[in-house]
Amino acid sequence: MKKLNREQFIEKFKSNLEQKYVKSFEDSTKFEKYHALSDTIMDMISKDWIETNKKNKTERNAFYFSAEFLIGRSLGNNLLNLGIIDEVKDILKELDIDFDEIEDEEDDAALGNGGLGRLAACFMESGATEGLNLHGYGVRYSQGIFKQRFENGFQLEEGDSWVARGDFWSLRKESESQIVSFRNFKVKAVPYDVPVVGYENGVVNTLRLWQSEAIKNDGFDFQDFNDFRYDESVSEKNRAEDITRVLYPNDNIRQGKLLRLLQQYFFVSASLQEIVQKYKRLHPEDKNFSQFHKYHVFQLNDTHPVIAIPELIRILLDEENLSWEDAFGLATKVFAFTNHTVLQEALEKWNLDLIHEVSPRAVDIIKEIDKRLLQSLQEKGYSLEEMEPYRIVKNEMVEMAFLATYVSTSINGVAELHTIILKKETLNQWFKLYPEKFNNKTNGVTPRRWLQYANPQLTSYIDELLKSEDWKQDMTKLKGLEKFADDVKVLDKLNEIKFEKKVQLAKYIKKYEGVEIDPNSIFDIQIKRLHEYKRQLLNALHILHLYYELKANPTLDMHPVTFIFGAKAAPGYFRAKGIIKFINEISKLINNDPEINGKIKVVFIQNYRVSYAEKLFPAADVSEQISTAGKEASGTGNMKFMMNGTPTLGTMDGANVEIFREAGLENNFLFGRTEEEINELANNYNPVNIYNSDERIKRVVDALLKEEGISDDGTNHFLDIYNSLVDPKDGNRADVYYLLEDFASYVEAHKRVDEAYRDRRGYARKGLINIANSGLFSSDRTIRQYGEEIWKL
Ligand code: PLP
Repeated sequence: MKKLNREQFIEKFKSNLEQKYVKSFEDSTKFEKYHALSDTIMDMISKDWIETNKKNKTERNAFYFSAEFLIGRSLGNNLLNLGIIDEVKDILKELDIDFDEIEDEEDDAALGNGGLGRLAACFMESGATEGLNLHGYGVRYSQGIFKQRFENGFQLEEGDSWVARGDFWSLRKESESQIVSFRNFKVKAVPYDVPVVGYENGVVNTLRLWQSEAIKNDGFDFQDFNDFRYDESVSEKNRAEDITRVLYPNDNIRQGKLLRLLQQYFFVSASLQEIVQKYKRLHPEDKNFSQFHKYHVFQLNDTHPVIAIPELIRILLDEENLSWEDAFGLATKVFAFTNHTVLQEALEKWNLDLIHEVSPRAVDIIKEIDKRLLQSLQEKGYSLEEMEPYRIVKNEMVEMAFLATYVSTSINGVAELHTIILKKETLNQWFKLYPEKFNNKTNGVTPRRWLQYANPQLTSYIDELLKSEDWKQDMTKLKGLEKFADDVKVLDKLNEIKFEKKVQLAKYIKKYEGVEIDPNSIFDIQIKRLHEYKRQLLNALHILHLYYELKANPTLDMHPVTFIFGAKAAPGYFRAKGIIKFINEISKLINNDPEINGKIKVVFIQNYRVSYAEKLFPAADVSEQISTAGKEASGTGNMKFMMNGTPTLGTMDGANVEIFREAGLENNFLFGRTEEEINELANNYNPVNIYNSDERIKRVVDALLKEEGISDDGTNHFLDIYNSLVDPKDGNRADVYYLLEDFASYVEAHKRVDEAYRDRRGYARKGLINIANSGLFSSDRTIRQYGEEIWKL
């Protein structure tokens, strides 16, 4: 079905370019063409965008508050969702333009760290596709997550000025700016609206990102300038713009920095002020906001936006003159909270003094909430001791997760196991008090970006097999693929598609990393943030083990493997950076050893990000999901591999548990201790015994200090890693993440992969069953559950 008027489209595209750059189409650069094409698409979207906004005005709406939206690129995804991607590719070809080259001109909008931010982006897309009244609210960081590069195997960070060449996918809405008042200064919050195009349904929702600016004269002081005080002349401007200048590059670790809290307060304050203003305009009769909760629900994506709770109460108390009872009562009806982690080092706690720096009223309000909570517990007959675990404010620190849990109507975890752990451990006291508030919403990923767009070859083959495209509206229909599980033609074709994606990835890696890899080898891939609990180090130790096995026995019978890593380490995370250096050293050692004869290759790709991920997931033979059981809340990378027909090699952790259940253990590779086993082991765990009794483990751990071909260049990174495994300092226990405990089981799981892969059709069959059962992990399903069970849209 044609959706485009070809001639009109070409004319618009060309005239856009000529008007913007005042040059002929033929003389324009690829970037200029990318810009003109983007603008052409923004024009096409505008009508539907206006219509969607109009409809939302009178209905109940959900607001997704998130400090991160890891969007990636927009061009291809918008073309796909508008249903015109093939036609536009055709048109470009006719004009002698290579779509891939145009696409490569777009910088990723990388306003997030990893899973949490990418989840927010998938939710926005699925919300539009499902036709939900869902609005995203966040921060327009001028600098996204840093760009990573390796020098001599070490990570180097560079700034990510993603808007420097222009951001063509948002509209500045000057007239809807807000003033945000911090304790001792005010800034202007300017909204930039990003359209979120639903999949072939005419819906265009909005992601609103706030940018901070100076209020008066853009912060420029002409007097200072005239008097040659140039720095002073722009100091006001800089101070205001500093608020949204840069995304904190930390994943799963709290950072109690003033600027971070200023960012959090900045975007929720601007959002709530705007939403309250709109409500007053639309409902002038409702002076005491008695109906506000019928039209609004705010989903708090982790604790980052939890300062929205005191901020809404402040607005209602101080600006709208509501009573405490009414203001607080309203707050208890409109917030819902998603927890993303059980790692203690990631749960945000803010010092009262710091909150006071940002908003003194927030301190009063939080203290009042805490006081009234304790009163209500007392009335219920709790003793002082029994009340202790509930205290929101303790030792001058505010437990943001407790504040959120107390006030919210709903508290959800992001995978079944994660929600169980929340109930039995992390938030156990709260679960006892409010069992009805707790629920699970297993994460999902959008199949448009991660299957249809990333893997058009597999997509059209699924169309062909199912003789229908209905599965694109309902991913559970993929189940119909199971009937081809023993069809050798189908299995061979799936292998052919996988091979094509591997060839494409190999070319890309050759272009950007300068490394040659063999698409006939097994592509074993671990891509995610670098974190000790995710255990990239376990992967590295196993590779080293395999290397030593091969050195001892050069004719070792194994299928060649390419181990691919992609990961950014938080810039201040010394150990994570050491692990990157270690893997790069292993890579250098192995890739340059002629005796290995191409049997193992190790590549650490630089600057892992959404657009790179789109190339990696479809090309994988093995999905490494090897976190310590009980530590990974959900994972979403695991789902993207599964959808692209890649078996999981993983632990019983996060959503792996559900992946194993849906696709069957026989189609995946389980290893390692369960969360319960680890809990039982905890106090008696002695990694040094394992180290001393397993020669293989001793050999690879010792390599950190003794292998000649491996060096940290005198930085002590490897001694730190060695100590973390077997010789802890400061009275801490060694091997906190049970690498040595799981090592043997991990080695054995890899042997099973090697064996399974020799039966090429048998391996494709596992991939097929994974695809067929990946329907549960569509974020369409997840967002529908939020919509029905939490937001009641
Ligand atoms: N970074 C990017 C670019 C991703 O696409 C994803 C997940 O899909 C992540 C990080 C998070 O990966 P994981 O769920 O494996 O931690």
